[in-house]
Amino acid sequence: MKQFQFEYHDSEVFSKKLSDFKAWCETNSMIPKLFQIYSEVLEQSIIQTVCGIIEQIFPKTLYMGCSTSGNIIDCQLAEKISVVCTAFELPSTQVKVFQYDLSECSVDNITEKILEETKENPWVKAIEMFFTIPETSTTGFCDGLKDVRPDIQIFGGVACSDDITSDASCVFSSEKGFSEKSILIVFYGGADFYVDAIKVTGWKPLGRKFHVTKSEGSILQELDGIPAYDVYHKYLNIKNDENFFYNTLEFPLFYEHNDTTILRTPVASNEDGSITMTSDIDVGSVVRISYGDPGTILESIKEDSRRIGEFQPDLLHIFSCAARRTFWTSREPTYEIYPFQEMAPSCGFFSHGEFLRTSGNLNQHNVTLVIAAMREGEKKSSQASGASMEGNTLSKVPLVSRLATFISMTSLELEEINQKLELANEKLKMTAILDGLTGLYNRKEIQSQIEGALLEIEKEKFSLIMLDIDNFKQVNDTFGHQEGDAVIIGLADILKNEPSDSLRNVSSGRWGGEEFMMLLRGTELSAASYIAELIRQCFANTNFPTARPQTVSLGVTQARPEDTLDTLCTRVDMALYKAKKAGKNKVIML
Ligand code: GH3
Ligand code: MG
Ligand code: MG
Repeated sequence: MKQFQFEYHDSEVFSKKLSDFKAWCETNSMIPKLFQIYSEVLEQSIIQTVCGIIEQIFPKTLYMGCSTSGNIIDCQLAEKISVVCTAFELPSTQVKVFQYDLSECSVDNITEKILEETKENPWVKAIEMFFTIPETSTTGFCDGLKDVRPDIQIFGGVACSDDITSDASCVFSSEKGFSEKSILIVFYGGADFYVDAIKVTGWKPLGRKFHVTKSEGSILQELDGIPAYDVYHKYLNIKNDENFFYNTLEFPLFYEHNDTTILRTPVASNEDGSITMTSDIDVGSVVRISYGDPGTILESIKEDSRRIGEFQPDLLHIFSCAARRTFWTSREPTYEIYPFQEMAPSCGFFSHGEFLRTSGNLNQHNVTLVIAAMREGEKKSSQASGASMEGNTLSKVPLVSRLATFISMTSLELEEINQKLELANEKLKMTAILDGLTGLYNRKEIQSQIEGALLEIEKEKFSLIMLDIDNFKQVNDTFGHQEGDAVIIGLADILKNEPSDSLRNVSSGRWGGEEFMMLLRGTELSAASYIAELIRQCFANTNFPTARPQTVSLGVTQARPEDTLDTLCTRVDMALYKAKKAGKNKVIML
């Protein structure tokens, strides 16, 4: 693959350069296959002029492009309008461009069409995508491409403008012209085409975890139940002023999703304490604040870029976050990618979101550098192509990196201690509400559950069953206290496994000595007495080691709207009393 780079300043000079290039191609039997235009200029008329010149001089060649927050050519920030032409050296290599209008087709429709196209074009090995700034989350789009053949690499970026806070963006192509709401898709492939792609963040998680407890799209409302802004204020002392974006830029949120790490940067803090993020974070995600410092980022790039060097690319496509451009401004906007310069010619842009497929899942990243490497034919040598990172790494591990490790380790230790405490607390809570002998709820707890059910009686009816083992004093006297305990536990076990085997919402508690109370939510009197009868029979058929079978009497009642805890318990107690009076081993309803 060959890459030819042009700048656009005015139409006359550009036309002349392209005409010269055409002549050169003809004498060198080079066939240009694709023009890519990266433009920091968003004016439709200017973009159309550039496209018009390409169309006129290379009427058969595909072209496509997008608006950017800075163009990258050979790892340097390039002119405001950069044009790159790609030519293939092998006849088997192919390229195809599609443009889908988001105002005409739904996202689902578009992903279906892309899926179809990959089936119709089995030669495809890479999909490059250019999104105009999406109105909502791109998660649906990314998930929609899950079923794309697993060996197809997918990468790309969100088109944007040089104003990082603006929503203006456009894409355009030989297929469908200029659009402010479209997705551009480029297929690359063929028998001799190879592709690899990596993402590098370099940002490292810092300190404690937070749970996303409330979020809606890209609005992050709460972390651990407190307004998201308060977290940035409390832990980083970042104020809610015009510098909020620039101050939080070094501290995006870091979390795991689809087996990969994702960063999201705060864009603005809102009056209600929520924060607008660069893209969505689902409720339930566990996030950490992360930090970026030049030394650590360069170290990460050194690590991760080795793979690209070993791949021996013919050319590189680079998608870097506009936030990274801002981050490196004090040095050079492309300082961190200089090392890739020696590997291969490159083109790309600073974007509002970077896409990469990893482990089969396509994700939209932020604050991330995505580098796609392409090559025709086998590797040319056994040597990695110039991946030398010397010169731009900082030799000493920076102090901030050591401090971050210190904070992370202490947070981790605290998290472990907290986990143990939570477990112990959970145990304590359980012992406070459970009866020690039977493991059923204790009287206080079952009573409070009945009180709770009474408050909800208009919404859900419920019944009570009160049970008392018959002639229990005699069991103790005849077989001893231990066997008495076994009989109590035996009845409790029956209550735990409530023999009607339905999925009723039942709570059972020990009311006192050999007395029990069952709360059957959503259950009417007749169903409750049916269950009571099953329990009676089950207990009567249980054989204890020495006490053999024993019996139990049961009173059943349904709660009434006018009931208080007292009237309800008195009524069920009365039912039980009647069961005893009637000769025990009986169920009586009241
Ligand atoms: P009835 O059929 O009328 O219910 O007669 P009963 O003998 O079961 O009645 P009573 O309430 O007089 O006796 C209950 C006995 O239960 C008295 C008490 O010693 C015994 N008891 C209370 N708690 C426990 C316990 O935890 N374990 C054992 N083994 N016995 C207990
Ligand atoms: Mg009793
Ligand atoms: Mg009894």
